[in-house]
Amino acid sequence: MLSGKRYNTLNDELFKIFGEKVSKIAIDGGFTCPNRDGRLSYSGCLFCNEKGSGDFTNFNLDIEKQIDSQIEINKRKWKTNKFIAYFQSFTNTYADIDTLKLKYENAMSRKDIVGLAIATRPDCFNEEIYDYLEELNNRTFLWIELGLQTVSEDTAKLINRGYDLNTYEETIMELKKRKIRVVTHLIFGLPYEDKVDMLNSVKYLAKTNTWGVKFHSLYIQTDSRLYDYYLKESFKLLTKEEYVDIVSIAISYLPREMVIHRLTGDANKKLLFKPEWSCDKLGVISSIDKKLKELDLYQGVNYNSNM
Ligand code: SF4
Repeated sequence: MLSGKRYNTLNDELFKIFGEKVSKIAIDGGFTCPNRDGRLSYSGCLFCNEKGSGDFTNFNLDIEKQIDSQIEINKRKWKTNKFIAYFQSFTNTYADIDTLKLKYENAMSRKDIVGLAIATRPDCFNEEIYDYLEELNNRTFLWIELGLQTVSEDTAKLINRGYDLNTYEETIMELKKRKIRVVTHLIFGLPYEDKVDMLNSVKYLAKTNTWGVKFHSLYIQTDSRLYDYYLKESFKLLTKEEYVDIVSIAISYLPREMVIHRLTGDANKKLLFKPEWSCDKLGVISSIDKKLKELDLYQGVNYNSNM
C-alpha cells in the first residue's frame, strides 16, 4: 500500500488513479429522504440526525457556492487541485430524473471536479436513474454509497432502516451489472448486536465484494432519536478498545482490493452525547493501525477462511 498501511485506503486508491492527491467535498444537495418525509416513515433511521448524516455540509448555500467554499478550504488544508463532489446529506437519488441531472451536472461543471460520489438508499432507484448513472459513470469517476449498516433483519427493523436485505442485493447487482462502483456503509455497535453479529455483516460484505466500504462507530448525538432511545433503554455502547478490535478483525476478512473509505465515525463535538472517544477520529485510526500490527493482520489475510 502506498501509505504503508495494512489496508487499502481511499487516499491510496485515488492517488493510483489520478496520480495526485484528490480530496472529497461534502455537499447538501437539498434532498430529503423517504424514511423521513412520510413515504416510508416520518421517524427516519434510529441514528439519523437533523442533517440526515451530513453534519459537515451547508444547506444554506447553493451547490456552486458550497463547492467554491469547500474547494478553497481543501486547497489550503490538503494542497489538492482535484476534487470529488460528494452528495452526502439525506437520500441523493430521491428525486425525479430532471432534478437529479440538474444537481449532478451542476456539481460537475467545474474542471477541477474529477468525480462524483452519491450517498443514497437501495430503494431509491428506477430504470431511468440506473440508465443515467451508467451514462454518467462512462464520463466521470462515479461511486454510489449505500447505507446497509447491518445484515441482521432484526436490527434493521429495530433501527427502522425501512428496506430488507433483498432490496440491497438487487440494487448492488444492478449497479455492478452497469459497472458502477458501490460503497457499503456498516455501523458497529448498533443496539444489542454482539461481535459475532458485526463480523457476520463484514463477512457478508466481503462475499458481495462491493468496490468499497465505510465502517462507522455508533455514537449518540442529542439531535437524533437514538438519544431518547438510549435514555430509555440504556443499551451497551462499544468501548474504544472493543471497536478497535472489531475493525481490525473486520479488515482481515475483506478482499485485498476492496477500498476502505472510512474506519470510524466522525461525531459532531457540539452534539455528541456518548461515547466520548468517537470524537477522536485520528486517535481511533492510530489505535487500529497499532492493533493490526500487534495481531499481525492485513486486509485480506482471512478472506479465504470466509469462503
Ligand atoms: S436513510 Fe439516511 S437520511 Fe434517511 S433516515 Fe436513514 S440515515 Fe437518515
